[in-house]
Amino acid sequence: MARLAQTAGLTDVQQEILSTVRDFVDKEIIPVATELEHRDEYPQQIVDGLKELGLFGLMIPEEYGGLGESLLTYALCVEEIARGWMSVSGIINTHFIVAYMLKQHGTQEQREHFLPRMAAGDVRGAFSMSEPGLGSDVSAITSKAVKDGDDYLLTGQKMWLTNGGTSNLVAVLVRSDEGHPEGTAPHKSMTTFLVEKEPGFGEVRPGLTIPGKIDKMGYKGVDTTELIMDGLRIPVDRVLGGATGRGFYQMMDGVEVGRVNVAARGCGVAQRAFELGVRYAQQRHTFGKPIAQHQAIQFKLAEMATKVEAAHAMMVNAARKKDSGERNDLEAGMAKYLASEYCKEVVEDSFRIHGGYGFSKEYEIERLYREAPMLLIGEGTAEIQKMIIGRRLLEEYRFQG
Ligand SMILES: Cc1cc2nc3c(=O)[nH]c(=O)nc-3n(C[C@H](O)[C@H](O)[C@H](O)COP(=O)(O)OP(=O)(O)OC[C@H]3O[C@@H](n4cnc5c(N)ncnc54)[C@H](O)[C@@H]3O)c2cc1C
Repeated sequence: MARLAQTAGLTDVQQEILSTVRDFVDKEIIPVATELEHRDEYPQQIVDGLKELGLFGLMIPEEYGGLGESLLTYALCVEEIARGWMSVSGIINTHFIVAYMLKQHGTQEQREHFLPRMAAGDVRGAFSMSEPGLGSDVSAITSKAVKDGDDYLLTGQKMWLTNGGTSNLVAVLVRSDEGHPEGTAPHKSMTTFLVEKEPGFGEVRPGLTIPGKIDKMGYKGVDTTELIMDGLRIPVDRVLGGATGRGFYQMMDGVEVGRVNVAARGCGVAQRAFELGVRYAQQRHTFGKPIAQHQAIQFKLAEMATKVEAAHAMMVNAARKKDSGERNDLEAGMAKYLASEYCKEVVEDSFRIHGGYGFSKEYEIERLYREAPMLLIGEGTAEIQKMIIGRRLLEEYRFQG
């Protein structure tokens, strides 16, 4: 995009990475995205290309074979990729969250064991908090780990795993009461387990079943699954960070960077919707002139572009805050909330600009219209973001009277 969503102050390396990714998106993703999406086909060739570009190791430290880049670089790449096809950014996102959690919270042995292969894209991550009975209320998790000799036995049902089938490493959050006296707050008796498995569906490891893909309205191509644990045996050295009871905080840390990533996706999808809308508005004629010359349509374009700019600025701000080592829960919550709401609105306006053709599967906006709602839900709904934002504001602006 020539004018919108520019980011000031990028290094030469960041600019080079972004221009390579943008080029890849324009040549390898946009031309095939809609066709693959309609067939709900996994974009293997695109994933292989991303591997070659090193994108699976973008934020993994160089000592583990990654590129050691910042959250900002990552988020800007995600924005570019989502502009091409949101599902592709979904394939990278859970991987990135698991790698981030390992980097921040893993033991030295866990980092050395997983991160080099994650950087190469050979180990691919998924993360699992949600269950059939809960998503927002993570403290209500019922899946359980019970100590059995040197191992833990995990039992329970998980829901909505992005990349559940294609991944071979899942970070699973379960309740582990052992060592935590009765009455311990729920979030202090949760543990993240690093579960290795074969990719695919069915019984992928003794005691672990991935039943199949959930059929979704959009966000196709990327697999979303359930995960069933029935006496799944996991050794103690696969407790993330080596100690039980820290899982809730580890996952929340992962989700916090994940929120910047969802904001970036919202920005990318909104940019594409704007591009499609502004192009179509200059091609379609009604009442003797291009519809772009009707003021009502121009106002729509103005509103859309303003939203694209605002969301991008907030997303960049949230990423930079985290990169500077500061807490960014407020900024990440605001960016995720605003970018996902604006994305939905920009996509809808672009859809309206397309008139009846927007309803046809021949036009790309039809796909975007089915993709945007996922961003309103994933990594915490709008209501959950507002709860986080509200709580944090009351801490910052405590009445001292
Ligand atoms: C395509 C897709 C992929 C996903 N991928 C993953 C994944 O990889 N890993 C994973 O763990 N999860 C994943 N999820 C799950 C996702 O995180 C949850 O769906 C989300 O957190 C919402 O939870 P829920 O669906 O249970 O809704 P609920 O928590 O049941 O909420 C229902 C409604 O009530 C509102 N609500 C809930 N509590 C409150 C409150 N206190 N105050 C006001 N309103 C409230 C919500 O905002 C929402 O509108 C995915 C979901 C989808 C759709």
